[in-house]
Amino acid sequence: MNKETCMKEAEESILHTYNRFPVVFDHGEGVYLYDTDGKEYLDFAAGIAVQAFGYHNREYSEALKTQVDKLMHTSNLFYNEPITSAAKRVLKASRMDRVFFTNSGTEAIEGALKAAKKYAYTRDGHAGHEIIAMNHSFHGRSLGALSVTGNKHYQEPFEPLIPGIRFAEFNQLDSVKALINEKTCAIILETVQGEGGIYPATDEFLQGVRALCDEHDILLILDEIQCGMGRTGEMFAWQHYGVKPDIMTSAKALGCGVPVGAFLMTERVAEKSLAPGDHGTTYGGNPFVGAAVDTVLKMMERDRITEHVKEITPYLEQKLDALVEKYDFLTARRGLGLMQGVVCEKPVGKIASAALEHGLVVITAGADVLRFVPPLIIGKEHVDEMAEKLDAVLAEM
Ligand SMILES: *Cc1c(COP(=O)(O)O)cnc(C)c1O
Repeated sequence: MNKETCMKEAEESILHTYNRFPVVFDHGEGVYLYDTDGKEYLDFAAGIAVQAFGYHNREYSEALKTQVDKLMHTSNLFYNEPITSAAKRVLKASRMDRVFFTNSGTEAIEGALKAAKKYAYTRDGHAGHEIIAMNHSFHGRSLGALSVTGNKHYQEPFEPLIPGIRFAEFNQLDSVKALINEKTCAIILETVQGEGGIYPATDEFLQGVRALCDEHDILLILDEIQCGMGRTGEMFAWQHYGVKPDIMTSAKALGCGVPVGAFLMTERVAEKSLAPGDHGTTYGGNPFVGAAVDTVLKMMERDRITEHVKEITPYLEQKLDALVEKYDFLTARRGLGLMQGVVCEKPVGKIASAALEHGLVVITAGADVLRFVPPLIIGKEHVDEMAEKLDAVLAEM
């Protein structure tokens, strides 16, 4: 199938919910992708913060192949070793006590919301609780996850969504405080807002929200789907802040390409939360994804991936800052670790398209941010190459 045929047939058969770039990727190696014409691209998107180890990592591939030949799926009616080992590792990395594996980030959010509601139901002996979420957040596209996604444009056609959700302003503690009432059971936020434009929470905000939660027995749910798994230089971004969530979500780099998510909670929450019959999944946490998560966490721990991220981050920041300095239409850089955004006054979609022509994959966040979420294994030479290519692209704008 050549490129034009693939694009044409995809457009004729796959529901048009994405405006795709005209590229058909064929394979990847390290931090490079190759299209069907053999053109090479330096990848600073990592499949939207998924491919932490880049492409075609031998150890990961072998672990998955071995598991494919052994056992793929049996259902959650039985135990399996790979997911049990993965569970122990993710609990150790997160200092949480209980985990439920899902098939996506969205489902992890669904589970987290249900877990919080069930906790409050058990505690109070009745339902009818409310949740506070943030404007400009992104938590997924299912009706539950969409209900806590603070984006009117995404929500409007699907209303009414689940009731009892109130929206506060991210990084404005007073706006959260003003919404708390006796029905509030949880506050959900991304530790670093991703799709909304790469906004890290401030220390005062996250610590303040934590204090409010403690004061009112409200559960703090941190969405670490994009910013977790080593991306910011800690295994989970909240570990920078000296606070701990009651419930958290993970996905994206958790499986490094295998579709898997998770929601995790402390024992205090678990005791009053989801019990047999309350929640389930057919695929979630099967032996195949178990092998993926187990291998990813094993490699991250052994290779001290967070140390590498901490080391390389200042270099990336310096290179991006130099471009912000050089081009008037780039107005700011912000981010945490290898999750960086550059605010741009020219159409970011056009810049991403032009970058592809130059053999560089970058994506956007929100309406005016260029997003840099490369594989965590990048070296200085890749940062240099990215900066050079991006400079050439920006010079054309
Ligand atoms: C991607 C993302 C989700 C949704 O995850 P899916 O795997 O696409 O369902 C939720 N929250 C955040 C912060 C995300 O970045």
